[in-house]
Amino acid sequence: MARPLIADIDLDALRHNYLLARSLAPDSQAVAVLKADAYGHGLVACARALAGLAPAFAVACLEEAEVLREAGITAPVVLLEGIFEASELERVEALGLWMAVHSDWQVEALLAYRPARPIPVWLKVDSGMHRLGFAPERAEAAWQRLAAAPGHACDLHLMSHFATADLVDRHYLERQMGRLASLAERLGAPLCLANSPATLACPEAHGAWNRPGVMLYGSDPLEAANAASRRLLPVMTLRSAIIAVRDLPAGEPVGYGGRWTTPRPSRIGVVAAGYGDGYDRHAVDGTPVLVAGRRTAIAGKVSMDMLTVDLTDIPEADIGSEVVLWGRAAGGEVLSVDEVARHCDTISYTLLTGVLPRVPRRYH
Ligand code: PLP
Repeated sequence: MARPLIADIDLDALRHNYLLARSLAPDSQAVAVLKADAYGHGLVACARALAGLAPAFAVACLEEAEVLREAGITAPVVLLEGIFEASELERVEALGLWMAVHSDWQVEALLAYRPARPIPVWLKVDSGMHRLGFAPERAEAAWQRLAAAPGHACDLHLMSHFATADLVDRHYLERQMGRLASLAERLGAPLCLANSPATLACPEAHGAWNRPGVMLYGSDPLEAANAASRRLLPVMTLRSAIIAVRDLPAGEPVGYGGRWTTPRPSRIGVVAAGYGDGYDRHAVDGTPVLVAGRRTAIAGKVSMDMLTVDLTDIPEADIGSEVVLWGRAAGGEVLSVDEVARHCDTISYTLLTGVLPRVPRRYH
């Protein structure tokens, strides 16, 4: 029998979440963010599942876009970080890609390149993330230069990225929106602002385009869930099984360093998943898992290929019992990746993108 660890990817759930993003913003188009191997779910499989639904896809870089084109994906693909050197423009044009432009050198490279057909540009404004983009007072000059250049006159957009759209406290989000408002009005620019949290909870940020990412995969990025985010469905189920069971008296330490000690006579299950698969080693004792559809918890440090769980209150669990590390159990019970992430002092994004290649993906 093969090692019982698999990432089951529910493509219907992906489509459901995409349609939810679209229904929340009926006047916007939603570009599906598929960077980082579709947040660990498989770039090509997710693009194919959304082909015909999503009018465009977004990736970080040229290499990811090339994978999509080689797989026969013809929809527009936006490079969210643009190009990293001017020589990439030839491929951008040849593959019919769209690109973010965030720096003066990229404007210069585009103006010097003179493509045979226009390269659609999303001019990135730094409205407060302070990562990539032109300061609002400098963005207009870059926009005017591109707008005046023969090859680029059509299809210029303004984009910006929010730093705190997930938070209940709206004051920094409003500050970012305020910095963009007069610029967008002066330029009459189509806007692309909203990431997942803004798509879910901030209709005033919905623009000509939105850029939902993590919500497509069923993770709720909001600090306080709302009615919309409660409708998200998990896409990835990280599924394993119990491969060994042992009964221990009270007072026995379990695993490396003996971090967890049996508080009572206990039944311990060994699960075929560890940090060598991408399961986070920072998972504390008490991190939830589903065994045979019932909630229990990690007991002891995560090892490279295994982790240990407390089966004391699940007498029916035995070798071969299903273990869901996040996602949906065979009986329908759900353990959200967001809940697991909180126990690892991280966010769902790192858990999902962190599932390593040795874990096979199975698509439904
Ligand atoms: N837009 C940009 C520029 C991003 O960097 C990201 C993700 O980091 C997204 C959109 C999607 O964000 P989220 O996954 O929070 O929806």
